[in-house]
Amino acid sequence: MYVDVHCHLGYPPLNAQLDSVVEKARKAGLGMVITAGTNPKANDDVLSIAARYPDIVKASLGLYPLDALGFDEPEAPRKRDPFDVDAEISRMASLADKCVAIGEVGMDFKFAKEPPLIAKQKEIFGKIIEMAEAVKKPMIVHTRNAELEVVEMLETTSNKAIVLHCFMGRKSLIRRASDNGWCFSVPSVIKRLQHFQVLSGMVPIEQLLTETDAPWLSPVVGQINEPSTVVVGVEEIAKVKRVEPSVVKDIIWKNAQRLFG
Ligand SMILES: [Zn+2]
Repeated sequence: MYVDVHCHLGYPPLNAQLDSVVEKARKAGLGMVITAGTNPKANDDVLSIAARYPDIVKASLGLYPLDALGFDEPEAPRKRDPFDVDAEISRMASLADKCVAIGEVGMDFKFAKEPPLIAKQKEIFGKIIEMAEAVKKPMIVHTRNAELEVVEMLETTSNKAIVLHCFMGRKSLIRRASDNGWCFSVPSVIKRLQHFQVLSGMVPIEQLLTETDAPWLSPVVGQINEPSTVVVGVEEIAKVKRVEPSVVKDIIWKNAQRLFG
């Protein structure tokens, strides 16, 4: 079976056509779709979507770093309302038996790069790392322009179930994270981003997973992405690894089972 370990079914336009998106995923041969939360409201949505399709959709509860800061990106303006971050981290811990992972969490220094904002992100991410370790859940980690700092912080936890999602770090950091035994989820956009072809070549196949980050990062420019496009990711990884796509599919499915049960 195929697996999408990271997407956002609760975001428009996917949330308005969930039945058809999930049906398309089933028809494409997916056995598991992990949908990720980014703030309290999104976490509620994730739980209700997972409850609606329990055979295939699994919940991942998260706090996107910019949501946790209440920081509005200049590039893609979306209003982020402030909320009680500590209370949400506690709530996520209390809901741990309803989710398969903690994510999307991490740090993002692209726009939130002033020293106080970096310090605040480190403080929040540190608390989340501790919480995930305490509830014994894998973490699905976002990092943008903060790759070294994220790797350094993750090296402080005894939690070995780490998934770096869409990791854009340089080769030395890919190697370092790979040597730590962490997993990388490769997005379907590998089709047109050479970076992920290089990454897939460097990391042992036992540490690779597939994801879409749908509705974003479609392998086809201008299209809305969906979990069903993980098939493209598997094909591309197979080319890099010079093995049959069916072999890649089976190994990645086993990797996902090992991590998320
Ligand atoms: Zn995401």
